[in-house]
Amino acid sequence: MNLILFGPPGAGKGTQAALIVDKYKLVHLSTGDLLRHEMSSSTELGKEISEIINSGKLVSDHHVLKMIKIFIENNKKSNGFLFDGFPRNQDQANLLDKLLADLDLKITSVILLEVDKESLRERILSRSQKEGRADDNEETLIKRLEVYFSETEPVIAHYSNKGLVKSIDGVGEINDINQRINSILDLV
Ligand code: ATP
Ligand code: MG
Repeated sequence: MNLILFGPPGAGKGTQAALIVDKYKLVHLSTGDLLRHEMSSSTELGKEISEIINSGKLVSDHHVLKMIKIFIENNKKSNGFLFDGFPRNQDQANLLDKLLADLDLKITSVILLEVDKESLRERILSRSQKEGRADDNEETLIKRLEVYFSETEPVIAHYSNKGLVKSIDGVGEINDINQRINSILDLV
């Protein structure tokens, strides 16, 4: 089973991803986590991308794709992948299709977490108090949402044309949302 977890910034992708990979024994690939790891380890890449991330824009495909390719190849013997925060634009989606096809794999389902803008804002601002992420502030959030609606949301059509998209109400208790996801995945 290879899944993509889609949704706007603050939709709870990271939280739900951890529960899904545990239950279905998948490998979690979060581009946001990988990029933050580069920043906290102050690698060359980390230094180049911190300004972009903190302004709410997307890191260049060139950087992201190289990271993804290595990760997928290193984990190709796994039970399946959960892609979280990737693909984020059409070029990334095309490349993911190609990388998977080369390994004889394909996407099984796309889970779309739907959360209204006001809840996203509340969650991001409360997370900023706990985690202190430099991109979790009101100004950057506005940019991140803009990028989500202009570049990322259109990619959903790429998968809904193939009948793969399952929409989930992402508002409520973490465990309730997880149940909603599981009840769909158990049928896959
Ligand atoms: P959530 O809160 O639902 O887990 P998020 O949108 O807040 O998700 P991340 O997915 O961690 O956060 O992304 C944080 C930032 O990392 C993005 O705003 C972007 O700058 C960069 N980023 C993450 N994934 C990609 C990607 N696939 N392509 C380009 N940039 C990316
Ligand atoms: Mg995340």
